[in-house]
Amino acid sequence: MSFLYLDLPFQTSALEPFISDRTMTVHHGKHYQKYVRTLNELTANSKMSDETLEEIIIKGDLVGKAIAQNAGQVWNHEFFWKCLLPEGPKPSKLPLEFLDEQFGSAQEFEDDFTKAALTLFGSGWVWVVRDTNGALKIEALENAGNPLTHGQVPLLVCDVWEHAYYLDYQSERGKYISQFWSVLNWKFFEENIRASESLQNRANQRMRYENQMGL
Ligand code: MN
Repeated sequence: MSFLYLDLPFQTSALEPFISDRTMTVHHGKHYQKYVRTLNELTANSKMSDETLEEIIIKGDLVGKAIAQNAGQVWNHEFFWKCLLPEGPKPSKLPLEFLDEQFGSAQEFEDDFTKAALTLFGSGWVWVVRDTNGALKIEALENAGNPLTHGQVPLLVCDVWEHAYYLDYQSERGKYISQFWSVLNWKFFEENIRASESLQNRANQRMRYENQMGL
């Protein structure tokens, strides 16, 4: 078995003018592809090539830093592509209600997310996660960081490595983030919020059961 190099779920030009054809061609065709290739080289002829990306990410440094980092980068990019949508629909009511409840308002959520992206030093990813206590939270993680390592459920991500925006915005990460909202797949975000709520409920039910049974 080997790890697959997946197609983009849309054309490389589909996010123009916010993210250019050239950026997506290089991002998917060079950067993402290299992480897949390196991961396959590093795990070739080992039992790890039969594991899932999630299993490798959760084991982290136990499997070796380079393997964990490349698996993280593959998973993160595949999740990031799903967070993007050409001419994305406007946010539906559900995520907006959630954002009001958790962050004060959708605007405050965008401001907090932007601040997290701008203050992340160097390369990394800005996530919205469902934390272990059930709350939604913004997390900026360096390098190949992934919330699964911390027992959190990923709901949304923005790639803030320079390769994601340098051709279009040079060093202006803030301009790139301000365009992110124009191509964000709110439906995917909403589905993840819903699914993580029931995941959280199941985890809480299990915990109550285990407490009752004295397990
Ligand atoms: Mn990237």
